[in-house]
Amino acid sequence: MPDRPPVIIVGGGIAGLAAAYELHRESVPFLLLEAGTRVGGVILSERVDGFVFDGGPDSLLAQKPEGIQLCRELGIADRLVPTLLPRQSFIQRGGQLHPLPAGSVLGIPTTVGPFLRTTLFSWPGKLRMGAEWFLAPKQSDEDESIGQFMTRRFGREATEFLAEPLLAGIHAGDVDRLSMKALFQRLTDTERDHGSLIRAFRAQKPPAGPNLGPFRSLPGGLSELVHALSAALPSACVRTNTPVRTIAPVAGGYRVETGHGEALLSDTVILAAPAFAAAAIVRDLDAALSSLCGGIEYASAVTVALAFERDAVRHPMNGSGFVVPRAERTGILAASWLSSKWPHRAPADKILMRAFLGGTRDPGAIERPDDELIHLALDALRPLLGISAAPLLTRIFRWPQSNAQHNVGHLDRMAAIDRALTRWPGLHVTGSGYRGTGIPDCVADGRRIAREAVAARAVSAAQP
Ligand SMILES: Cc1cc2nc3c(=O)[nH]c(=O)nc-3n(C[C@H](O)[C@H](O)[C@H](O)COP(=O)(O)OP(=O)(O)OC[C@H]3O[C@@H](n4cnc5c(N)ncnc54)[C@H](O)[C@@H]3O)c2cc1C
Repeated sequence: MPDRPPVIIVGGGIAGLAAAYELHRESVPFLLLEAGTRVGGVILSERVDGFVFDGGPDSLLAQKPEGIQLCRELGIADRLVPTLLPRQSFIQRGGQLHPLPAGSVLGIPTTVGPFLRTTLFSWPGKLRMGAEWFLAPKQSDEDESIGQFMTRRFGREATEFLAEPLLAGIHAGDVDRLSMKALFQRLTDTERDHGSLIRAFRAQKPPAGPNLGPFRSLPGGLSELVHALSAALPSACVRTNTPVRTIAPVAGGYRVETGHGEALLSDTVILAAPAFAAAAIVRDLDAALSSLCGGIEYASAVTVALAFERDAVRHPMNGSGFVVPRAERTGILAASWLSSKWPHRAPADKILMRAFLGGTRDPGAIERPDDELIHLALDALRPLLGISAAPLLTRIFRWPQSNAQHNVGHLDRMAAIDRALTRWPGLHVTGSGYRGTGIPDCVADGRRIAREAVAARAVSAAQP
């Protein structure tokens, strides 16, 4: 193998791009191979007739600073915008929208007044939730599902009308299967250290400085981040339309074969494609590693963006949108009111919203024809929002196998993947399938893996 060939990164979603950015910062040559026609993966924004659509993600969680830090490094931090006021979210119950009680942390109530006044829960439900204050922490350290954790601490109603649509909903996943430890370790740690979550959250001091809310976005949609990242990378080092088919060991490294039959050599390969794609790529290399990666499930999602004249919608749209518990049995999982959530997403006299469909609740949604998806979305939205006219514009984004499901046992699976990777020096995995699903997690992981790869290369170069 020639001296120091470029590091090969497979997959140009945010994780692969973040890995490339970190390598470039460290002056390490790389070659990023992306199967699709563009980089960014599920991040895709479009501008049409004065509307700005995010087809995939639209928010960066500010609490996890790596997304915002990357924007800072790329010189676009001054473009970040917080959500508009009022920062109110709603939950559907009994065919009505109920505001999430003020002062909730991940849906968990921390202030008495709004919790007592809310119409979201029944009185027996409220009593059961309040009883959490007195419950001792769980004794065993075993992983459990979000549903098990929430029902154990707050009762079944809290699981049905909070945890399922909010905590599992973020992942388009199943509340009875998603892992509490893998996804909400902050809550399991709080239980272990303090017993009651309500008590612990009430004792917390609010962060200093102005409260801008938990989320940030960019005026042109999150594709702005992808464009800024791409612009920071040497364009010759990023190849689109280049799917990787397989990798095989060769002396001193790996032979990476593309779908076009091209063979590339490198001592370092970072697999930043979804875990099921990584499983196919390493199938001949290591069947056990392939099976571990292939066992990470993904759910498909569809977003349906809809624009209306302002006066065609009776609801004041005074918030960011709403989530829909499974028990409500409508065709959508959630809706975000993009033009009330973010500035500059629609002309002043218009409204832009989008509905989320699919997930583990409705895996067949991705196969439905466009008109059926629009129908489903409108049927769910019309009675809640008082929509009296047809949409001015519709746009459908299908995301097959897009939402990694970190189900119960995910951390054990990750430990096994890390052990398997020790058999293959120079081979790394990153992306939403593995150590965190949100954009800041993917940025942090991509950059960390790139640094680890550089460090491992330096060690192997120093060996005689
Ligand atoms: C609808 C939706 C809304 C979301 N909303 C938010 C949000 O608001 N905030 C947030 O933080 N997160 C959100 N998420 C989650 C977050 O966007 C994703 O988890 C994250 O962007 C995934 O990045 P990734 O790089 O791991 O994977 P991807 O974006 O899936 O990128 C993987 C890339 O690998 C490529 N690839 C696949 N196979 C191969 C191959 N064989 N060879 C080469 N390339 C290959 C793919 O083409 C793709 O470009 C959302 C996700 C979805 C689907």
